[in-house]
Amino acid sequence: MLWLEDPPPISIGLQPYGKVQPSVCRQLKARLEREFFAKVTILPAHGLPKSAFYAPRSRYRADRLLPILAGSKGFDKVIGVTLDDISTTKGKFKDWGVFGLGSIGGRSCVVSSFRLGKQGAVSPLERLSRVALHEVGHTLGLEHCPTLHCTMSDAEGALKTVDDETGFCQLCRRRVKAIRN
Ligand SMILES: [Zn+2]
Ligand SMILES: [Zn+2]
Repeated sequence: MLWLEDPPPISIGLQPYGKVQPSVCRQLKARLEREFFAKVTILPAHGLPKSAFYAPRSRYRADRLLPILAGSKGFDKVIGVTLDDISTTKGKFKDWGVFGLGSIGGRSCVVSSFRLGKQGAVSPLERLSRVALHEVGHTLGLEHCPTLHCTMSDAEGALKTVDDETGFCQLCRRRVKAIRN
């Protein structure tokens, strides 16, 4: 009789930029490990790379951070975490502030707490965790999902969308499972 072994966990490197609290990193690690059957390694913190700085708006380009993060060897995926504002080009907006950015099926993503507010029904840390799940979901190949309240909903910069999320919908969850097998 043939027994199929469990596939190995997805390995994720978590790169804190600057003064991200260790407790925040630990919370993100626990959440990613639980949702994705992953093994997360918290990397030593360092400052944001100057090459990603966008002087006209004094913030950092998320799309420049992604290839830098992807260069971090030894993991399937890498997620950067920052308190600073990050941006990318979105349609006709040359420099659009975002909660996070992840390339679909790519190696890396980045999330920022800068736009996640300080109050509301959902804590800033829970919001950051949801954005992290969304962006790592992109790196695992998940696209935006039309199902209401799914973690893969396109928030389009609206905190309410993040606050209304209840987790991955059945279809997205099935896709995450399929990636492992
Ligand atoms: Zn997205
Ligand atoms: Zn979904």
